[in-house]
Amino acid sequence: MKLMPESFSIHNYLHHSFECSCGREHHTDVEKIIIAQGARRQVPELVKEMGYTHVFMISDTNTYPAAARELEEILKEAKVACTSYMIPQNPVVPDEYTMGELLIHFDHTSDLIIGVGTGTINDMCKFMSSQMGMEYFIFATAPSMDGFASVGAPLISGNLKITYDAHVPRAIIGDVDILAQAPMNMIAAGVADVLGKYTCLCDWHMSHIINGEYFCPVIEEMVRLALAKMMGQVKNIKERDPDTIKTIMEALVLTGIAMSFVGNSRPASGCEHHMSHYWEMMFLFQGRPAVLHGTKVGVGTAVAVRLYKELAARQMDYERAREKAENYDVHWWEENMRRTYGIAAEGVIDLEKTEGKNDPEQVEKRLEIIEEHEDEIRKTIEELVPSLDLVQKVLTDLEAPVNPLELGIDRDMVADSIMVAKEVRNRYTLLQLLWDLGLLEEMAQKTADYFEAAYRG
Ligand SMILES: [Zn+2]
Ligand SMILES: [Zn+2]
Repeated sequence: MKLMPESFSIHNYLHHSFECSCGREHHTDVEKIIIAQGARRQVPELVKEMGYTHVFMISDTNTYPAAARELEEILKEAKVACTSYMIPQNPVVPDEYTMGELLIHFDHTSDLIIGVGTGTINDMCKFMSSQMGMEYFIFATAPSMDGFASVGAPLISGNLKITYDAHVPRAIIGDVDILAQAPMNMIAAGVADVLGKYTCLCDWHMSHIINGEYFCPVIEEMVRLALAKMMGQVKNIKERDPDTIKTIMEALVLTGIAMSFVGNSRPASGCEHHMSHYWEMMFLFQGRPAVLHGTKVGVGTAVAVRLYKELAARQMDYERAREKAENYDVHWWEENMRRTYGIAAEGVIDLEKTEGKNDPEQVEKRLEIIEEHEDEIRKTIEELVPSLDLVQKVLTDLEAPVNPLELGIDRDMVADSIMVAKEVRNRYTLLQLLWDLGLLEEMAQKTADYFEAAYRG
């Protein structure tokens, strides 16, 4: 079966491999996705149909009253045994303590875990079920992020955020009645996570042009259509229109599935996510309260859009770029990593030792290709990156932050994040492109000034 994004129904592509025009076979282990009003009432049938008899349900102090309590009753009425555990801490921190607590309260007679919640609950249930050789379902309570279908489980271990290999849920359930009642900042975070696909897809194109990185036009289109559909309905979000909420949730689940299809997060995560990861790490080190993933991604998207627009307005100076590459001082770079990454610096330095992203020879090779394909690069940016005004409008209409300073990220941290966020992963994005062109430092300072001035009004 060929994947047809125009007449796309995700249900046709679950749990079996299909050939794609990109030349690869795509596959996801997710078997069932139900996003509908009243989906909660379909859960007992699904549990039975998939051969389970006893559910261990995990929720927290927000999601228990919002959904888990009723879901527990629905299961019991349908004669499905259910042991329910509500994590008492608020906020829930996905660390060794909470994981240990879940293990203590686990009912070993159960044969399925159902997580009722979003990011953190999903990550912990994903990890726990994988470690125990069990399956899990995620019953989403807010359309707030796109990690429902991901394989990795980011947890906090030794005060560092580490993404552990785990597995996808066997089923993803989103009851639109419940999703629509989620706090507006969580819905806005989901919208922002989808908005981030503008810059992330452009980053993917950049790497395809410059590095010949694998690119699947069908999956790209699938994500782009989900984004476009959401953009067509954004005006209805505030009134919690069920069809719009369903569209947001579908876009989030679909981008998750797109990651499964490609086998990594390329179709869903670019430099806007790298900046978000950097801020998250800094907040963790500084003991500051965590900010929703999508909220940070929305802000990262605004920064990335501003950078893309700046780049598009510039004349490229390849002579200067080559000179800069030749004068690269690795000791200066390492010092900069120690200053900006603190206790995480050594990991970043080791990654660069194996990958050599900044190695002058590599940079010069890429510069040649960039010079040769400048028109294509410019055209792609122009076609894919929306105006900053549009991004700003969508976010501010939902009262979501746009400017990093609104999150308490100061001007210098904005500049640092633009400069060093690309070092968290070996993935080519706009930020590495700016580095290659010798523009990163200067544009980081300029963009930080821009956001500071905009914040001060
Ligand atoms: Zn493909
Ligand atoms: Zn995301």
